Amino acid sequence: MSTSTVRYELKRDVAAQRICFSATFPEREGAWTLQLPTWRPGRYELGNFAQYVLWVEGMDGQGQRMRLAKQDLHAWRVPNGVRQVEWVFHADILNAGSTCVEDDLFYVNPVNCFMYDLERQDLAAEVALTDLTLDPTSESGWALAVAMPWEERDGVPTMRARDVQHLMDSPWMASPKLWHDSYREQGLDVHIWVHDTLPEDPARFVADHVAFTRSQLSYFGSFPTDEYHFLYLFPDRDVRHGVEHEDSTVIALGPAERVRSEEGYMEILGIASHELYHAWNVKRIRPAEWTPYDFTGPCPSELGYVAEGVTTYMGDLFLFEAGIVDLQGWCGLMTKLLERHVNNPGRLNLSVAASSYDTWLDGYKMGVRGRKGSIYVEGAVLAFLCDTRIMERTEGKASLSTAMRLLWERYGQPRIGLTADMYWDVLAEVAGARLDDLRRDHAEGTVDTWEPLVHAMSTQGLTLSKHVDEGGITRVNLAPTS
Ligand SMILES: [Zn+2]
Repeated sequence: MSTSTVRYELKRDVAAQRICFSATFPEREGAWTLQLPTWRPGRYELGNFAQYVLWVEGMDGQGQRMRLAKQDLHAWRVPNGVRQVEWVFHADILNAGSTCVEDDLFYVNPVNCFMYDLERQDLAAEVALTDLTLDPTSESGWALAVAMPWEERDGVPTMRARDVQHLMDSPWMASPKLWHDSYREQGLDVHIWVHDTLPEDPARFVADHVAFTRSQLSYFGSFPTDEYHFLYLFPDRDVRHGVEHEDSTVIALGPAERVRSEEGYMEILGIASHELYHAWNVKRIRPAEWTPYDFTGPCPSELGYVAEGVTTYMGDLFLFEAGIVDLQGWCGLMTKLLERHVNNPGRLNLSVAASSYDTWLDGYKMGVRGRKGSIYVEGAVLAFLCDTRIMERTEGKASLSTAMRLLWERYGQPRIGLTADMYWDVLAEVAGARLDDLRRDHAEGTVDTWEPLVHAMSTQGLTLSKHVDEGGITRVNLAPTS
């Protein structure tokens, strides 16, 4: 093993739903810090994963074991001379960002449970699944779905990560119940893996993936990597969300009945299109505060309206561009979004930029009524206003997609962290005029969006209206102008 590689060996205790880790770090001088991430990219709040760690032990050169003392809530002090460390992680949560061990599933998000040397984040990682025997050729044999490169060494599946950032962003799932298919689009190899429930019509499922992949790729002109993996968890229990990664995504939806329904199917495609868009926007075009990710504590950013807002808007728009939904279908998606928007008084209290900063407090909870907006909803509304403004200014020659492609080429590819000024400057460059009123009023301010929305819809040949129903809820109507 090279002097710049950490070797992790994992063994499962399925009955107890635990994973036993043994990690061997390269030789180094002095005491050092063993760090566990405090949050995971895709969820901009603390995850406090250390609550699932039962114990951490070190082993010195003489084979002497010792419990390691904590340095802070998420870090342990490793004495001089100790290179080998072991710990046990409790793994019984099943969602798109968790780690779970069951009879027929070995699903890991390394960012939950892998510890690293705080001062050596450049170290490569070798991850050996020592108790897993793969046999994807047999009906009941285990298969492995992961974007990290891997091989079998003496029958042990062994994965490799370039460094800590790569390791933390490379989830895997292994199971005897994995369905797999793949396709190639504009030089990109895409793999679809499904655990458990398979959608009713697998051929349509793949064809729809091809359609939105093709459409997104042609707008961006190139993809960040040669390979991309969709990891689907469709268990027979209630769950719904997706998490983006460097070269893959995990999408969880259930129960089984929902996966097989038409409505659930369209939900899955909506999430899938959103997550693929993230491969450019947020995995590469990324707010400066998250470049690179600092896993040791909160890193608030005001740019959630780009990271999640633009992605939410574009994810849906590409379903339309790809022909997966028609204009009426897109209006339906927009109506749902706008109803969430107009019925949240919090958007008039905290701007979407300020709400983005505060996701670390309560961004993923209902929170106090009337306090904050959502980077997803309010961010998508803002993205729509920017898109239509650019189209209006350029008489349809450019759009927000033109700006996103420029952002990808200028900042995403060379991995330069994005600031608000960089974003709004590129939008202005593409539009041929500044969009400072939108930034001031609807990104960093709390001006009501209704009039601009009505106007923006009219530029697209759509009429937007609203009324309050008997329950006091504002209902939105969006339809082609007759
Ligand atoms: Zn997202």
